[in-house]
Amino acid sequence: MNKRDYYEVLEVDKRAASDEIKKAYRKLALKYHPDRNPGDKEAEEKFKEAAEAYEVLSDTEKRRVYDRFGHAGLQQTGFTGFRDFNDIFSSFGDIFEEFFGFGGGRGARMRRGEDLRYDLTIDFMDAVFGKEMEIEVTKHHYCEECRGLGTRQGAQPDICRTCGGRGQVTRSQGFFSISTTCPTCHGSGTVITDPCPSCRGLGRILGKKTLSLKIPGGVETGSRLRLQGEGEPADSGGPPGDLYVFIHVQGHEVFQRQGSNVIAAVPITYSQAALGADIEIPTLEGPDTLTIPKGTQAGKEFRLKERGVPMLRSKGRGDLIIVVYIEVPQTLSKEEEELLRRLAEVEGVNVAAKKKRFFSRNK
Ligand SMILES: [Zn+2]
Ligand SMILES: [Zn+2]
Repeated sequence: MNKRDYYEVLEVDKRAASDEIKKAYRKLALKYHPDRNPGDKEAEEKFKEAAEAYEVLSDTEKRRVYDRFGHAGLQQTGFTGFRDFNDIFSSFGDIFEEFFGFGGGRGARMRRGEDLRYDLTIDFMDAVFGKEMEIEVTKHHYCEECRGLGTRQGAQPDICRTCGGRGQVTRSQGFFSISTTCPTCHGSGTVITDPCPSCRGLGRILGKKTLSLKIPGGVETGSRLRLQGEGEPADSGGPPGDLYVFIHVQGHEVFQRQGSNVIAAVPITYSQAALGADIEIPTLEGPDTLTIPKGTQAGKEFRLKERGVPMLRSKGRGDLIIVVYIEVPQTLSKEEEELLRRLAEVEGVNVAAKKKRFFSRNK
């Protein structure tokens, strides 16, 4: 067999560093992965070739031998390469996990149950300070009558004839044998001929479960809480999935969230703005007093440090930002009107003339 040069296979330089080699192999492994190229002979060959090259070049000792003596030198050390895909996956399982986000064993690992999503709308203040609450989730649980086995009590599941109980079927393709999950038993290795009457052989029943949930202070819309193991149960003895609680926070009539900061708009009068004042302000803990200086302009922001929302990932709190605006009265008492007209006189500004009551009276 005429073997190609390993460096050529991985398309790297002879002096390539180990991380470069790994990167090159990753690229090829992804491209020619059998799951992506089912039944493609050429891809299988390339996949195997790349794995072999990577095995040698990622190993200091093997690489040294190969650099000096080539393929023949390696053969003399007893190096044989890989027999089949399973061989490759078991050797580089951790790398495949890193590459693909799942185990390289393909079926060797028990599959997790599905993750579930639960949407939860919470009050503004509960999001700020956190809350312990209970939620009711609709999900499957293992059937108690048959303990999840799916068979009538006393009955045994039969061995699956398709796979002979292995849960996997292997088909040979030339040099390789490819294992896939058995289509008849879906990997369990057994089939149920005398089903449990409670769950009709499914081993699981849809029901409601009450879960207690601790919402940390500082969550906001889009925050996700994970309840490990509270998702759907697995099909064949694997671990259950997780439950993800998606938080939606309701608005507040006074406060507006901006991350961990909270903003509140507070009205003041023209005289308070001009003369300065102690004004009442809302805070997350209740009413408080804020001193504003004379000459305060409309739109001025007062920042109260650490009076905002607790940070989710650290100890601190955001700020409370009070924005003042000048509220203009829509009606005036006689005295107020007189004083304002006097003020306008002193300021030397033009104001609308006083409405004469004369006309309305003599209509
Ligand atoms: Zn089977
Ligand atoms: Zn059952």
